[in-house]
Amino acid sequence: MEIMYKSTRSDSEPVTASQAILRGFPQDGGLYVPTAVPALDTDLSELAAMDYRGVAYEVMRLLLTDYTEEELKACIRGAYDSKFDDDLIVPLKKAGDAWYLELFHGPTIAFKDMALSILPYLMTTAARKNGSGNEIVILTATSGDTGKAALAGFAGVEGTKIMVFYPKHGVSPIQERQMVTTAGANTRVIGINGNFDDAQTSVKKLFTDKALVGEMERNGMQFSSANSINIGRLTPQIVYYVYAYTRLLADGTIKKGDPVNFVVPTGNFGNILAAYYAKRMGLPVGKLICASNSNKVLFDFFETGEYDRNREFILTSSPSMDILISSNLERLIYHICGDSSDLCASFMKELSESGKYTITDKMREGLSDFVGGYATEEQTAEEIRTLYDEYSYVIDPHTAVASSVYRRYRASSGDTTPAVIDSTASPFKFEGSVMKALGQKTDLPDLELADRLSELAGVPVPKAVSDLRDAPVLHDIVCDREDMEKEVRRFLGL
Ligand SMILES: *Cc1c(COP(=O)(O)O)cnc(C)c1O
Repeated sequence: MEIMYKSTRSDSEPVTASQAILRGFPQDGGLYVPTAVPALDTDLSELAAMDYRGVAYEVMRLLLTDYTEEELKACIRGAYDSKFDDDLIVPLKKAGDAWYLELFHGPTIAFKDMALSILPYLMTTAARKNGSGNEIVILTATSGDTGKAALAGFAGVEGTKIMVFYPKHGVSPIQERQMVTTAGANTRVIGINGNFDDAQTSVKKLFTDKALVGEMERNGMQFSSANSINIGRLTPQIVYYVYAYTRLLADGTIKKGDPVNFVVPTGNFGNILAAYYAKRMGLPVGKLICASNSNKVLFDFFETGEYDRNREFILTSSPSMDILISSNLERLIYHICGDSSDLCASFMKELSESGKYTITDKMREGLSDFVGGYATEEQTAEEIRTLYDEYSYVIDPHTAVASSVYRRYRASSGDTTPAVIDSTASPFKFEGSVMKALGQKTDLPDLELADRLSELAGVPVPKAVSDLRDAPVLHDIVCDREDMEKEVRRFLGL
């Protein structure tokens, strides 16, 4: 079955998967969604015997139907190799009542690597397939982790340029150092005076700025997006849900068909949306537990049916989830209003005009698989401490948000379905917050702190952190939101 992609906001011409990946998103400001959700057609027991690359192929071929077998397998081989510091790519660890799916063994030690290590391959293959001679310009706003993961993926890739904007005062010291030390003539990293939502809103405007886009076209360039709205990111994220399920099947924890709950620390709603698609593809998933930090706009949405971004933006110890506009939620809205682009467009119009919208009772029925929860800063720190005290297992604050939400969900609901918690970052990436939660001294230089954490956790300092020891700072531009376009033009020589 050929799967095409259309906009959430209009019913204009559907495009192929490779075209959707190349363009990033449709010109009407919506997001690409598949015109049909394909069913997993490989037996789960068969998948249980495959390695990560094998599962990746069996899942991704169903959604990226215009890639040939050779093309897709080459992309997968290029992405999931020794860049990952664990042969399994994504190990699954049991601690207490839950399994932790460690999605942080890639080059930037956060789960964004799962998709961003393959996106450059998917995109350059897409350019070749569609005969585009244009240089691809990746423009990205990041809350911290996407930036470096995208830079790591695209740095030095011929035919591409990548520009990343991050909130100057909204990322962890390690995250910032990772980004500003990026080498590669095709890279540019800029701090902005503002938060992530500011950066993301401005980037979205630049993408659809007709004058800029036209000028780029005349100069042989085109924008694409490495943000989680690109289906080239969403698709690879579906893979690890199937992988996690089949590992539990392989070790006898579950029988084929038994449900598994997934708990996802959520910001832009990309990761949990992938779990939703996995369920719709036929993976036996029970609840999708959506965990927020104090920016609990999604929790409130699941409670009340009203999405309201008009509230204070709170800086937390889980900065990659400090988000009030969860872009990918638009795809879920589209699906729960019966795949209606008219309805979806009207909700998104309300969101942009008044900052809020309320879905209908009928639509709320479509959310019955989801459970919302959130963790305060205190609960997050307490969860890090508990896991360490009871199981000598050190988790990062994002994972701790999910773990804390799950602990309370399990206690209050009595639901003992096996649960997999997405472990989205290495504790070393947020070592200050982790050490503080563990009651340790934190007024040490970042890299010494890493050594201390390594002793406590009994795991070596990841290469991504030790490599920062001698890396020189190569990017030091900071600008206001209003000057982002000027910086883009400067980087592109326009
Ligand atoms: C990006 C990120 C998240 C949030 O993922 P979404 O797909 O945006 O919901 C959670 N944890 C970490 C460590 C991240 O980098």
